[in-house]
Amino acid sequence: MDIETLATNLSCAKFDSRTVIFADSILTTALFGRHNHTREKRLHRAQVLATEFDLDEDEQRTIRETFESGKSKLTEAADDWEIYHSKATSLCNKLTRSSASLQNAGPQSRRFIAWWLEAYTLVINPNASVKLSTINISPDKVKGFAIHSTKFIPKDFTIKELVGLMPYDNNTAHTRLSEITPAPSQDQQLGQVRILFGPIRFINHLCVNFNTAYIDEPATSTFYVYAIRDIQPNEEITVDYGTGYFDDLPEGCPCRTCSKPPENLAKMNPDQSSRLETTAGTVGPSPQSTETENKNHRRNKLRREKRKEKV
Ligand SMILES: [Zn+2]
Repeated sequence: MDIETLATNLSCAKFDSRTVIFADSILTTALFGRHNHTREKRLHRAQVLATEFDLDEDEQRTIRETFESGKSKLTEAADDWEIYHSKATSLCNKLTRSSASLQNAGPQSRRFIAWWLEAYTLVINPNASVKLSTINISPDKVKGFAIHSTKFIPKDFTIKELVGLMPYDNNTAHTRLSEITPAPSQDQQLGQVRILFGPIRFINHLCVNFNTAYIDEPATSTFYVYAIRDIQPNEEITVDYGTGYFDDLPEGCPCRTCSKPPENLAKMNPDQSSRLETTAGTVGPSPQSTETENKNHRRNKLRREKRKEKV
């Protein structure tokens, strides 16, 4: 797949916050929300950008089934940008027809849904340098999202599959999920925090030994991440969200380094930590992914319940 062409097209898009926050919340809830998946009860409820939002379960199912029936055509067509784009537009039209909420999402919504499909399909494409995965975050089958490399990624390489875009305004109420400060080189008003949407939200935060950093695309509203060191195949892609990002959480930073006792930390190397992450279930939530607050709430709830049991 010509990732460069696709990334350039994606990075030049412009959307207002109303379109993004509403349509992204519908798609995120429908495609990544709580549902049964291959006989395994997945316990996530997707955390969304909209502050007040609810989507009927039947409608969620219809959107999800429409996407699942069309996504293979999209990934198969990924070698040719023109075909890829036309398949994405066609799937977007099907999704819009399947959902009253998407139909009512506003005049810009079709263009946004097509953007969303093209961007998110990048991380489920078999040719991509990264893939979307789920990891255990607690022993009772609570799952969280993560991004893992599919191949060796050399230092300084920009991972364009993990694109993130900001809307050009901030006129719509939104949750605190996925906020970022635009870089001076970008086509955004300085000093205004923006929401960031796109597959970049699936990257989990890590306080130490993270392997990527944000990089802005000048004259656009786009961010990617680039490798700050060599990344081995199947290593989790992690980034530092910035100092103070978790200050308002009562338990502080939930990342896997902060939630480990210091004696274990000293012994841990990257390979071991990724094994621990999938077996011990102590990995932190992904605040920029769709489920952050849910995971935090769930973690707190579990702790509260455990405390109750002890009492
Ligand atoms: Zn941390």
